[in-house]
Amino acid sequence: MKRVVIIGGGIAGLATAYSLREHSDAPFEIRLIERKDRLGGNIRTERASGFLIEGGPDCFLSEKPWAMELCKRVGLGDELLPTNEHNRKTFVLSRGKLHVLPEGVILMVPTKILPLATSSLISVPGKIRMAMELFVPKRKGPRDESLGDFVRRRLGAEALEKIAEPLVAGVHAGDPETMSVRASFPKFVQLEEDYGSLIKGMLKKLELLKKTHKPAAGTPNKRVTMFMTLKNGLGSLIDTLQEKVSSSKDTVVATGVNVSGVERKADAYEITIEGGEKIAADAVVIAAPAYAAASLVRFDKELPAKLLTIPYVSTATVSIAFRKKDIKHPLNGFGFVVPKVEKRKIMAATWTSVKFSLRAPDDSVLIRCFVGGSKDTSLLGASDEEMVRTVRQELKDIMGIDAEPVLSRVFRWMNSMPQYTIGHEERIDWIDERVAGYPGFYLVGSAYHGIGISDSVRYAEIVAKKVLHHIKASKPQ
Ligand SMILES: Cc1cc2nc3c(=O)[nH]c(=O)nc-3n(C[C@H](O)[C@H](O)[C@H](O)COP(=O)(O)OP(=O)(O)OC[C@H]3O[C@@H](n4cnc5c(N)ncnc54)[C@H](O)[C@@H]3O)c2cc1C
Repeated sequence: MKRVVIIGGGIAGLATAYSLREHSDAPFEIRLIERKDRLGGNIRTERASGFLIEGGPDCFLSEKPWAMELCKRVGLGDELLPTNEHNRKTFVLSRGKLHVLPEGVILMVPTKILPLATSSLISVPGKIRMAMELFVPKRKGPRDESLGDFVRRRLGAEALEKIAEPLVAGVHAGDPETMSVRASFPKFVQLEEDYGSLIKGMLKKLELLKKTHKPAAGTPNKRVTMFMTLKNGLGSLIDTLQEKVSSSKDTVVATGVNVSGVERKADAYEITIEGGEKIAADAVVIAAPAYAAASLVRFDKELPAKLLTIPYVSTATVSIAFRKKDIKHPLNGFGFVVPKVEKRKIMAATWTSVKFSLRAPDDSVLIRCFVGGSKDTSLLGASDEEMVRTVRQELKDIMGIDAEPVLSRVFRWMNSMPQYTIGHEERIDWIDERVAGYPGFYLVGSAYHGIGISDSVRYAEIVAKKVLHHIKASKPQ
C-alpha cells in the first residue's frame, strides 16, 4: 500500500491528512508524526474553573472562509461562534490613555468621516494627512516595500504610529519596517493599484458589499462576524480532526515522536525518526515550521538555507481572570492595542469575555495580554510569576485594575510566528520552484502562503490534492 508521511500535527498537518481522506477512497496509508505529546501546534485550548482559555489563536477571519468551511465539513457548523454584538470597539493606548479606534477604520484605512474627525486618538494635522490619502499618487514599479513605508506614504506617519503599527503588532507580532506589504497585506496593494487610493477603493468595496450582502438571519449563532471562533474553543477543531483522521484503519497518528531527517531515495523518500527508525514513503509533507523543515531536508543543499531566511518571532499570551465586581473599568470594547512609542511591556490585550460568549463564568471577566513579538522579547525569559506580575502592573497602569486575579495562565510561543519580510514573495517563489523539482515532496504551514489558520487550511487542501495526484501516478515501492 502506498504511504504518505505528514511531519507536524498542527492545523496544517491535520488539515492535509483530513483533506487526503476527504478527496480519495483509494487505499493508502497516512502516517502523521508530531514531535510534541499533543496535536494542534499553536492551537491550544484549556478549561479551568469555568473559564475557556485559548493559549494561542483565539479566532479566525471569516473573510478568509477556509477555516469556517472546514469546521462545517467536519460537523462543527453549529459550534461556530461570532463575536458579541455589543461593545465592538477597539482602543488604542496613546499618551498613557485608551482612545477609541475611530469607527469605520478598517485595519488602517478610514471609511467614515465623522468618527475620524471627532477622534481623540489622532491629531488635527494627522487627520488632515489621512484624508489627503485620496490625492496621493499611485506608486510606480512592482518592487516590494515595507508596510511602514507604504502606510507613511499613503496615510502619514501618525496613522502608522497610532493605528497600523500597533494593530499589526497585535495580530502578527511583526515590525512594519521589515514586513512586506505585498505578502502581508496584498489587498491594500491591490486597492492602490485598482483605485489609486485606499480610501476610495475601500469605500467602493463597502458599497458593493452592501448591495450584495444578505442580512444574517435567525439565531445569533448564525451570524457571521469578522472574527469567528468555536463555542468550545479552537481546540475542538483539532480534537474533531484528530478523531476523523484516526478513524481510518490505514491512518497512524503518532505523537511524542520527533522526525530527524528526510532523504530522497530514487523516486521515494525515507524518513528517519529520532532513535533511528526509518520509514519509507511515496510522498512526504513537512507541516512543521520552516526552520524545522530546513533541519530535516537532507537531499538538497540550498533549500534548507533558503527556508532559514524566513524569520520567526516569539510571543507569549498571559490570560488573567478577575471577579467582575472587583473591576471598575467598564470593559466597553474588545480590547486595546499598544503602539511601540508608548514603551509598554504588553503589545495588546483582548477583553476575551466581552469579545466572545462562553469564555468566563457570568460573575467574572477574562483578559488576555500579548507580550514579546518583534518589539521586545526580554520578558519571555521571565518566570510565569514574574510575567503575570508585570502584566498585572500593566493592566493597573492602563486600565486601573488592581484586583487580585482569580486565575492566571501563561503560554509561551517560542519561534512560533513566521514573519513575511520584504522579498517574501520572491523567496516563496524560489522555494516552490525548488520543491516542485522533487515529486512527492511538499511543504505546508503558515510560513509560506498566508499566516493565519484559514490560509494554512487553504494551502493544506491544495497540497493534499497534489499529493493524491502524485500517489495515483507513482509506481508502488
Ligand atoms: C500566540 C499566537 C496567536 C495567534 N493567533 C491567531 C489567531 O487568532 N488567528 C489566526 O488565524 N492565527 C493566529 N495565529 C497563527 C496560527 O497559530 C497559525 O497560522 C497556525 O496555527 C499555524 O499552523 P501550522 O500547522 O502551520 O504550524 P504549527 O501550529 O506551528 O504546527 C507545526 C507542528 O510541527 C511540529 N513539529 C516541528 N518539528 C517537528 C519534527 N521534527 N517532527 C515532528 N513534528 C514536528 C510542531 O511540534 C508543531 O506541532 C497565532 C499564533 C500564535 C503563536
